This record gives sequence, structure tokens and C-alpha cells, in this order.
Amino acid sequence: MELWQEMLRHSVDSAKDLVQRFGFDKEQAEKLNKFFHTRINPYYLSLIRYPGDPIWLQCIPDAKELEDKDASEDPLNEEADSPVQSITHRYPDRVLFLVTSQCSMYCRFCTRKRKVSDPSKINTRYIQDGLDYIAAHPEVRDVVLSGGDPLMLTDFMLEKILAGLREIPHVEIIRLGTKMPCVLPQRITTKLCRIIRKFHPVYVNTHFNHPWECTPEADKACSMLADAGCPIGNQAVLMKGVNDDPDVMLELHRKLLKMRVRPYYIYQADLTKGTNHFRTPVRVGLEIMDKLRGHTSGLAVPYYVIDAPGGGGKIPLLPQYVLGRNGNDIILRNFKYDIYTYPDVEEEKVVDTEMERQFRRKRNGHAPKEPVPQEVELVGK
Ligand code: SF4
Repeated sequence: MELWQEMLRHSVDSAKDLVQRFGFDKEQAEKLNKFFHTRINPYYLSLIRYPGDPIWLQCIPDAKELEDKDASEDPLNEEADSPVQSITHRYPDRVLFLVTSQCSMYCRFCTRKRKVSDPSKINTRYIQDGLDYIAAHPEVRDVVLSGGDPLMLTDFMLEKILAGLREIPHVEIIRLGTKMPCVLPQRITTKLCRIIRKFHPVYVNTHFNHPWECTPEADKACSMLADAGCPIGNQAVLMKGVNDDPDVMLELHRKLLKMRVRPYYIYQADLTKGTNHFRTPVRVGLEIMDKLRGHTSGLAVPYYVIDAPGGGGKIPLLPQYVLGRNGNDIILRNFKYDIYTYPDVEEEKVVDTEMERQFRRKRNGHAPKEPVPQEVELVGK
């Protein structure tokens, strides 16, 4: 058994553990564990510095999870885009391929908790269906392996899936969506890197949320993946009490760059059942972006996105840099809030009504399903 597997065996992994290790009331621990399984491996547990700290909040269940009764279990409506059990096919040329229900740490904010940790919903027996679906859809050129965490699979199983994908000629790139470099970096072994190398281009999307997660162990894991030829991107989730502070996010993103991890997304928290206590106002995300852009290398600035409820996909948000127009001049502000004027190129035809703007979007293939309601204040006209 490898070290990471040995560590997993010693995880906090049951209601009984919650009672014994963290003093939970037995009935409450059982309810929380039933709502979403608890698993915290010893490595991630060791990062906790005090009760209620940003690491604790991400992994220890909270009674507030049970109060959130009305929210959806599938806020992104992934099931509607799921042609077979293991595939979500939402965007034209890429699919999400769910290959295991297991993770080395179950994040309390997980968006896919309706399935994650439940082998009846994500299971290796559905993998062949997924491979068959991808093979039958030549438009799919990008496959994101996810779950759960695909690196919970054995090396043997992972290699089999990667080899299966590489036999499909139209699959150009493979992405591994894995939290392992952050939560159990010991999983990144020399043998694993040797396997990944055989199937390039393989990108890694990982998931650090707080600078305390950027440890020497995590640094080593990311270096090994980078040395194995994997570009690594990070997807952080904005969460109250964890990273809803511009200075924390600045430190996190600087540390990630040092670990050769390129910040990719900051997600506004989804409307997933049991996660309402993590949500922050959108204003907080915009303030964080304002603190990053210009204040640190552009390489450390991710996209801040809302994954649109109901399945609209990721929509980027930016602080307001365009302040307005003065005739043909565009009035801009920079990161220090200094004002600048940029003389725009004169348009051949001025498009100035909402109807004309909608017509132009339609002509470009992006017609809104519904007209923009009259009472909505349009910004950035
Ligand atoms: S690692 Fe990913 S899939 Fe697993 S619990 Fe965390 S967010 Fe959910």
C-alpha cells in the first residue's frame, strides 16, 4: 500500500469519529454525516490551526448545513445535460467525465454533493458508457476527468481510462480535475507522473482556497506535476470566513504562482443545498478582483465567475473600469482609480437602442432567450 492510501485509511470517516474527535452530539453527527459524508485525511486535518479557522470550515461539518432546506441539490442543472450516467455535456466541444464518487476530503461546500461519496451514482461501472459516448461524439475535443476526485482511482484504473481516451482520435486534450495537490499531495507520486506523461496533453485543474494550503508538500506535488509536463490551473471558491478578504486572496494567488500553478477561476459560491452559510455578496468578489488587478502580476489574476444558476455556464464579472463615454472618448479608470481618456475609433453606424443591440447579438448567434426587461438598468452601454 502506498503512503497516500495508508493515510486515507486513517481518515476521520464517520459520525462516530466526529463525536470522538470533535465532540459532536451523536444525533447531530449522524444527521450531518448522512446529509454529506465526512472524510478528512490526516494530512489535511494537520493543517487546522484552531477551531473555526479557514481549513476547519472547509472540512468539518456545520449544523448550518441542515438549516438550508429550500436550496437545490443540483443548482447548475447538470442532470439535464447528462446523456449517460458518467457524462455531463453542456458546452459544445467538451465534456465532464465522472469516473469516481470518492474524494480524499469531502469539502463541505461541494456543489456535486448529491452524487459525490455515493458509489450508486458515480461508479467505475459507468466508465465504459462514458468512453463510448465520447467516441460517438466527434465534436468532443476536451475531456475533464472529475467525480469525485479522479486521482482516488488506482494508477492501474487511471491509466486504463487515459489510454481509452487517447484511443479516440478526436479527443485533443484531457484535463484532470483534482484536489489532491491541495488536500493529499502525497498522492502525486513518481509513478503517477510517469503514467500521466504518456498521455499528453494533460492539463491539471486543482483547487486551493487559502494560503495555508500552500505547504511544502503541496509545493512538491505541484512541481512534480509541472515537471511531468502538466500545465496546472487553480479554481478557488469564494467563501465566507475562508477567503472573503482581498489580502488573503492576494497572498493565495501569489503563492500559487510560486508553486507554478496559474490562477484560473474564482467561483462565486453556488446555490447548493447546505452551503448557504458560505455565500458572500458579489461585491466582495469584485473588491477582491480590484485588489488583484494591477497590484500583482497579471499571471496571478484569475477570472471571477458566477456559474449561472440553472445551467447557463460560467459568466465572468469584472470591476467597472469603463466609467462612461464623452462623445467619442471612452473614460476609463486604472487600478489606482486615476482617470484616463481613450479616443475610440468612430463607428460607421451608431447602435444606440436596445432593440438594435439585441438584433446585433442575434446576428452574431447570441440572441438572449428573453428580451432584457425594460426595468433593468443597463450598464456599460
Ligand atoms: S474534492 Fe471536489 S468533488 Fe470532492 S468534495 Fe471537494 S469539491 Fe466535491
